[in-house]
Amino acid sequence: MSKTALVCGAGGFIGGHMVTRLKKEGYWVRGVDLKHHEYKTTDADEFVVGDLRDQTVCREVLDRPFDEVYQLAADMGGAGYIFTGDHDADVMHNSATINLNIIHLCHQQKVGKVFYSSSACMYPAYNQEDPDNPKCSEDSAYPAAPDSEYGWEKLFSERLFLAYNRNYGLSVRVARFHNIFGPYGTWKDGREKAPAAICRKVAEASDGGEIEIWGDGKQTRSFLFVDECVEAVRRLMLSDFTGPVNIGSEEMVTINRLAEITMDVARKTLTLKHIDGPVGVRGRNSDNALLRSKLEWEPRLMLREGIDVTYKWIEEQVVSGSK
Ligand code: NAD
Repeated sequence: MSKTALVCGAGGFIGGHMVTRLKKEGYWVRGVDLKHHEYKTTDADEFVVGDLRDQTVCREVLDRPFDEVYQLAADMGGAGYIFTGDHDADVMHNSATINLNIIHLCHQQKVGKVFYSSSACMYPAYNQEDPDNPKCSEDSAYPAAPDSEYGWEKLFSERLFLAYNRNYGLSVRVARFHNIFGPYGTWKDGREKAPAAICRKVAEASDGGEIEIWGDGKQTRSFLFVDECVEAVRRLMLSDFTGPVNIGSEEMVTINRLAEITMDVARKTLTLKHIDGPVGVRGRNSDNALLRSKLEWEPRLMLREGIDVTYKWIEEQVVSGSK
């Protein structure tokens, strides 16, 4: 008999990739999301379009003791969505409601194992003021001071999942993702994150032109290619480690450097025009010491290789959209 998995957020970027991976591994997969995947046909055996804020929908999709549940559904987006403050109430209410519904039903249905995707945005802002030396080790989470309501909700929900583990013995895995990027993800319309936004701007620009970068571009980040994120999640699920653990890359670059790599991949020379915009903390990098020690594995793909694949996909979207 195949193992069974429910992927919440299966119409989204990472959820879509997770469904594909689980199908390759022979799982029977049900996906659920507010919407169908925008960029590909799902590989799931069943796909339910439904709102996980609604308990009736949750009971319909979590109708059996799945071997594994992947909780990736969230009201989220890049800096333009999270850091303006305009969506704070929705982000907190929607994501917390989904998480409260899902973890309780996982307990009631006696699900085998549950994965929860937290975020590096839960780390304290005071440890991320120096762009050259940010601190994001798992044990640096407290005293808590995330720089966004999105981060506070993630911190609450990871504690929620861990509480179900402690009080009810539910097997839980919690990871803190650091800027995941790749093809088949949002690349326009306001929810896209920096790698996708920069790939789109470069693809749309004529050689010799200019692209806009929010802030001075000296803020630092690391970016993890989605295949390695999915690999890390699968390894975490197979391990005995509950977490929370960082899933990210340690290849930290400035946003200006990210733009240069993208221009290089695109073989275009463009001027960077720095404008005001939401930028988040000054520096952030994954600290993979715990990941290495617990999973005896770490991501290896260089940023440039991931941007190469992502740029080609976004360029195709830009070209086909403008036809
Ligand atoms: P995404 O926005 O592409 O996917 C999330 C999906 O959840 C979307 O398809 C959305 O429609 C769905 N969703 C939202 N509200 C819903 C509801 N009420 N009912 C059903 N579905 C609903 O985002 P992603 O990049 O694939 O992120 C997946 C998870 O990983 C999220 O929890 C996110 O917070 C977390 N995360 C992502 C990153 C990243 O860099 N992409 C970084 C840190 C954490």
